[in-house]
Amino acid sequence: MSDIINIAIDGPAGAGKSTIAKLVAKKKNFIYVDTGAMYRALALFCSRNGIAPEDEEKVIENCGKCDIKIEYKDGVQYVILNGENVNDFIRTEEISRFTSMISAYPKVREILLDLQRNLAKENNVIMDGRDIGTNILPDADLKIYLTASVSARANRRYKEQCEKGYDVDLEEIKKDIEDRDYRDMHKEVGALKVADDAVTVDSSDMSIDEVVAEISGLIDNIKK
Ligand code: C5P
Repeated sequence: MSDIINIAIDGPAGAGKSTIAKLVAKKKNFIYVDTGAMYRALALFCSRNGIAPEDEEKVIENCGKCDIKIEYKDGVQYVILNGENVNDFIRTEEISRFTSMISAYPKVREILLDLQRNLAKENNVIMDGRDIGTNILPDADLKIYLTASVSARANRRYKEQCEKGYDVDLEEIKKDIEDRDYRDMHKEVGALKVADDAVTVDSSDMSIDEVVAEISGLIDNIKK
């Protein structure tokens, strides 16, 4: 049996997966793999080429032209799209929506499958996404389903955006979260669901430190 440890962390948008996974990775000296960023890079490429997210054929054709590599510097993941570091361009609302639409196409998911599995084969990883525990790493040593209520997630995003000085509407944010949840949960392939052997952590009323402590405790109990 290999000594490599794989942790899968799935859940809806805005539940805090990346914040928590980054902190746990640092604490446990794991690599944090953000699979959403890989899908976002594909979406960025299509969007830059003027492709509509609804045009499945063109999206697949364009995604086929993408070479995605993942690099790490001081624990930070960089997504390299055809040789360019695209970290600064993939977090806009437009790319979020585009990504959630094109990630429903089975052929798009296929493109990223090996990249995700190979990272987990060679490294101790905590990998966040939507179908990591159910599909990408079915044999993960620990599967977490990190969730939070729609209103808790909307309030967090609202606060974040207000702090950045954006003029945002709470009801609109709520609606956007509900729409994204629906799309994530109703994909033909790679749909978000709780793996049978996952531990569900509901962070609605928990602080970041409490969630990190709970997940770290679960990691300490992994038997190899
Ligand atoms: O996690 P993040 O919000 O960055 O993901 C962006 C979008 O990519 C999500 O809305 C989701 O639809 C999609 N995604 C996915 N499978 C993953 C990770 C992300 O379908 N493993």
